[in-house]
Amino acid sequence: MTPVTIFNGKRVALFGLGGSGLATALALKAGGAEVVASDDNAESMARAAGQGIATADLREADWSGFSAFVLSPGVPLTHPAPHWSVGLARAAGVEIVGDIELFCRERRSIAPGAPFVAITGTNGKSTTTALVAHILARAGRDVQMGGNIGIAILSLEPPSHDRVHVIEMSSFQIDLTPGLDPSVGVLLNVTPDHLDRHGTLAEYAAIKERLIRGSDLAVVGIDDGPSRAIAERRGDRLVRIHVPRDAALTADALVARDGAVFDADGTRIVDVSEVGSLRGAHNWQNAAVAVAVARALGISDADLQAGLSSFPGLPHRMEEVRRRGRVLFVNDSKATNADSTEKALTAFRDVHWILGGKAKEGGIFPLVPYFERVAHAYLIGAASDSFAATLEGAVPYTRCETLEVAVPAAAEGAAASAAAEPVVLLSPACASYDQFRSFEQRGDRFRDLVAALP
Ligand code: ADP
Repeated sequence: MTPVTIFNGKRVALFGLGGSGLATALALKAGGAEVVASDDNAESMARAAGQGIATADLREADWSGFSAFVLSPGVPLTHPAPHWSVGLARAAGVEIVGDIELFCRERRSIAPGAPFVAITGTNGKSTTTALVAHILARAGRDVQMGGNIGIAILSLEPPSHDRVHVIEMSSFQIDLTPGLDPSVGVLLNVTPDHLDRHGTLAEYAAIKERLIRGSDLAVVGIDDGPSRAIAERRGDRLVRIHVPRDAALTADALVARDGAVFDADGTRIVDVSEVGSLRGAHNWQNAAVAVAVARALGISDADLQAGLSSFPGLPHRMEEVRRRGRVLFVNDSKATNADSTEKALTAFRDVHWILGGKAKEGGIFPLVPYFERVAHAYLIGAASDSFAATLEGAVPYTRCETLEVAVPAAAEGAAASAAAEPVVLLSPACASYDQFRSFEQRGDRFRDLVAALP
């Protein structure tokens, strides 16, 4: 845990007692603050009280005595409507911060300049965060990984000069971190994926840019318009990351192409093409970012290659589950829309494709150009009718209804194929909620069914 000592002897209000909220309350208390915490959920309140946190209805609290108000990132500050607690804090003139802001202030207080990598972007955050942490750990560094990717930042060990914090940040978390000042700030990409929660693309990009503005060194992907503009405004202490779609090379960037990462002068730094967990051009971007970050932290190119090559990947993202004879089984359950599934289909050929669930707008129409890579489709879930209509005449398909039927059917189809390395790919292009609790549960079920194949 990182005790937060900067509010020692002061009163702090906190709303949101989920995982990170409770961790924050405990860290504040350990540092000597008097915390008054609240949540809409009675169970979360009881759990916090059981761990010695004072809980109260903040609607009835005396706000004039609070030095700060800590808000959980799950509770939106801006969009759609601000939470009632935000209104009360603003009316009382109490500053509103998140747990990462507390970490930043504690770091400035006890270990200024301690290595701190903050990673954001629309896509690839978790993969890149896990990859950077893996490379550093394999090179013998003391690494603390967390934030949006799992462990709450204040549950990690305190910042120190011989320890690296690698932290994934969502837009909500950046919004709640006015003093964000990482030693290395990463912006992978900005695309219009989550605009339902963030208003316009300009507002969304402006939040992401704040991470870059506060960083000692910035690492920015320049392959989309908003990110390129952010890189241009940044100027110095900047590493640009470029994944060219055609031959055009941008000078002065780390370039990822043909399964390798190159210096601006064209020198090959590392190979990615043989790394199973980093298939596809989108993962080359993640790898190039990891190269920039690890180099900035003094990792040698040899250690970089060793780290990349041994990266196990994250579960449910093009995860290689099993090889059975010539057939490779891949769990890409995290692909809940056509965009994500497109990445998987471009990474493989001779695909026995398991798809379906609760369809997103547009269905699988955007995937038609990749149908030539699909040998056979196996449909599950509520989207079966509409997906069958799109596949009709282009890809042979079987209606399976459930994963329990689809997995053995796809395994049999792939085993009978003449291809050198047929792939059974679960990449549903759909949400899971019609049949599963979450994409994780769907992927776990796939893994179990594959393991149970004779
Ligand atoms: P996040 O944490 O930002 O949601 P993940 O690393 O979990 O991202 O990857 C989620 C999905 O996003 C992957 O399955 C893949 O389809 C896609 N993806 C990963 N990296 C990138 C990237 N650099 N650019 C675009 N899409 C990506």
